[in-house]
Amino acid sequence: MIEEIADDMFRIELPIPNSPLQTVNTYLLKGEERDLLVDSGMDEEECKASLQKALHNLGTNLEKIDFFITHLHIDHFGLAPTLASNGATIYLNAPEAFFFGNINLWEKGFEYGKINGFPEEDLKKHLAQKPRFLKEIPRKELRIAAENNSVNSPDGHRFQILGEGDDLNIGNHSFKCVFTPGHSRGHTCLYEPSQKIIFSGDHILEDITPAIFLWPGEDRDPLAEYLKSLDKVFGLDVSYVLPGHRSPFQKHRKRIKELKQHHQDRENEITSVMNAKGKHAFEIASKVTWNIPRPWDEFALELKWMALAETLAHLNHLAGKKEVHWKYGTDNICYYYLPQTT
Ligand SMILES: [Zn+2]
Repeated sequence: MIEEIADDMFRIELPIPNSPLQTVNTYLLKGEERDLLVDSGMDEEECKASLQKALHNLGTNLEKIDFFITHLHIDHFGLAPTLASNGATIYLNAPEAFFFGNINLWEKGFEYGKINGFPEEDLKKHLAQKPRFLKEIPRKELRIAAENNSVNSPDGHRFQILGEGDDLNIGNHSFKCVFTPGHSRGHTCLYEPSQKIIFSGDHILEDITPAIFLWPGEDRDPLAEYLKSLDKVFGLDVSYVLPGHRSPFQKHRKRIKELKQHHQDRENEITSVMNAKGKHAFEIASKVTWNIPRPWDEFALELKWMALAETLAHLNHLAGKKEVHWKYGTDNICYYYLPQTT
C-alpha cells in the first residue's frame, strides 16, 4: 500500500509475516541524486517483494537509495543490509550498533530467565529457538561502526552513525536527528522543524502502545528513558507524525499524554498484584492483564518471555523510584516486594 504524503514523500506499508503487528511502514523521500528510505521492513520474501514493487511504481530503484533506520528491530532494520546497493549509506544509531555488535544476548538469557523465575524446562525450550534477528544481524560491521562512526561493509554499502542533533538533508528537506531512547536503547526520530513533521519510528504510534522491555544483559531503566523521550517530543512543534506502524496522525501531545497515562496505569496494576512478602517477576507477569485473548498458561513461550521483559522494565523503574524493593532469595531468584507501610 502506497500513500502520498507530499509530492516527494510516500508511505509504503509492508506486510510482516508471522507478526501480530501485521504491517510496518517505510517512507520514501525523493531527493535530487539520491532517495532516502526511512526504515526498511523485515528481511522476509513477502516484505522484500512488496517494497521492490512499490519502489518501482514510485519511479526509483535501489541503486539510488540510502536508508535511515529509526531503531535496529528486525521489522525496521532487517531489509536494509540485504537491499543496500553498492555505494549506499545506512544511517543508524551508535547505542544499538554497539549493543547488537558486542553483547551475546542469548548467552545471558538463561541466567536472566532463571533469576526472574522463568520455569527452567520452558526456559531451555525457549532459548533453544535462537531468534531470527541474531542470525541476520551484521554484527561485526555494527561493532566497528559503533567504534569508528562508520564502516564499509564487504558488500559495498556503508554504515554511518548519526546522533542527537545531526542533520540529514534530502531534497528540500532538512531533518534533525532527535534521540528518543526507550522502546529501544538508541531509538532516533527524524524531525523537520520547518514543516513540523516527525518520523517517529516506534517511539509514538497512534493506536498501538509501544512496548518497553528490559532484556538480558541490559543495565538501564528503559521506562525512565522512554518517559523522558516522550517529554522531549512533547516539547517539539509537530503538526504531523509519521509512525513506524499504522497511519500518520496529528495531535502528538494528546497521544503522548495517553501513553504516559498507560504506563501509570500499568504501574498501578503491577503494584496491585504485589505484596510485602515478595514475588518473582515471572509470577508478577503471570498475574497482570495482557492484551492476549487466552489465559496465561496457554501463552506461547515467546509471549511469556516478552511479558517478563515488559514486567521487568516496570519493576526496574519502580525499584529506581524506591517504590518497590528487591532481594535475592536463598534459591538465587530475585524477589520484588512492596515496602512495609506499617
Ligand atoms: Zn516496529
